[in-house]
Amino acid sequence: MIEDKNQERTPLSHLGEFALIEHLTKNFKINHASTIKGIGDDAAILNFKDKKVVVSTDLLVESVHFDLSYMPLKHLGYKAVVVNLSDVYAMNATPTQMTVSIAVSNRFPLEALEDLYAGIETAAKIYNVDLIGGDTTSSNTGLLISITAIGEVEDKKIVYRNGAKPNDLLVVTGDLGAAYMGLQVLEREKEVYKINPNSQPDLEPYTYIVERQLKPEARKDIIKLMDELNVIPTSMIDISDGLSSEIIHLCKQSKVGCDLYEEKIPLDPVVISVCEEFKIDSTTVALNGGEDYELLFTISQEDYPKIKANPNFTVIGFMKEAEAGMHLVTRSESQIPLKAQGWKNFNA
Ligand code: ADP
Ligand code: MG
Repeated sequence: MIEDKNQERTPLSHLGEFALIEHLTKNFKINHASTIKGIGDDAAILNFKDKKVVVSTDLLVESVHFDLSYMPLKHLGYKAVVVNLSDVYAMNATPTQMTVSIAVSNRFPLEALEDLYAGIETAAKIYNVDLIGGDTTSSNTGLLISITAIGEVEDKKIVYRNGAKPNDLLVVTGDLGAAYMGLQVLEREKEVYKINPNSQPDLEPYTYIVERQLKPEARKDIIKLMDELNVIPTSMIDISDGLSSEIIHLCKQSKVGCDLYEEKIPLDPVVISVCEEFKIDSTTVALNGGEDYELLFTISQEDYPKIKANPNFTVIGFMKEAEAGMHLVTRSESQIPLKAQGWKNFNA
């Protein structure tokens, strides 16, 4: 939030387009045998032999999807990669390559793009994905980033959204609502800063939730773990828009209903206390907050012993016949339809 007045600012016009791309991408390494040709020709060439190929794209637009007043560019680069990889993991696949395309206005100096690419590079290393191309162009207003992630998966291990059956268990990884509450804290600090630019925010008590908002992780570990446990979910999706809407996607595509138990929804203690501070219901936050990038999946009951003792997984409900509908079973045991009014337009 506090701008460093001494930082260097090299106008992008000092470099030609090609020198810029070369400068930004020179530290990236190619690690996968499936990358035959990466950056430098008219197109990249890949070879996946007998594997199936997974492709997923996201487009992020400044002031629609991110706010640079509290999102450092390094984090933005990292997050832009992670949210894409999350979609590949949600197919039970392993990401292997990506392309990164950017449109930038001349408001951004070279140093800003260096920060953005530093974040992209960190994510590429941690998640082991090869940067194989992209496009660079100018924009009249802000910054746009589009990333395409490519991954591989054995045919028989692909998990779609549409395979859930009645009586399957509904399982979620990690905990929910933290990224959304982290955003609330950051927005509050931004307002305070507007009024008093000399205020020093103490974000220490909020470290976990702010980090979940600014530096989310995709659940690469879960894909590996499920492989080791010999579990192939019957359906799966990543949680980008909030638990409620992702459950509805699984149910509609699988043509099943579901009971979700409020008391089972995993919440971090920090989320519970910050919800109290903001006077927001923590269940509502978990259901509608979004940007958790956890995995939501269903498994057949016979696979339950395999995941039972594992702290990464929480069984939060089970699937029913479609006619039964989709419900939240509250702590007081009343049933609230998952698409009921008041639950839905939380973000509007
Ligand atoms: P073209 O004119 O054919 O679009 P470019 O000069 O834009 O080619 O790109 C040259 C090479 O650099 C290509 O391999 C392209 O994929 C890659 N590239 C361009 N922009 C980016 C970027 N922002 N990040 C990574 N690679 C890029
Ligand atoms: Mg180009």
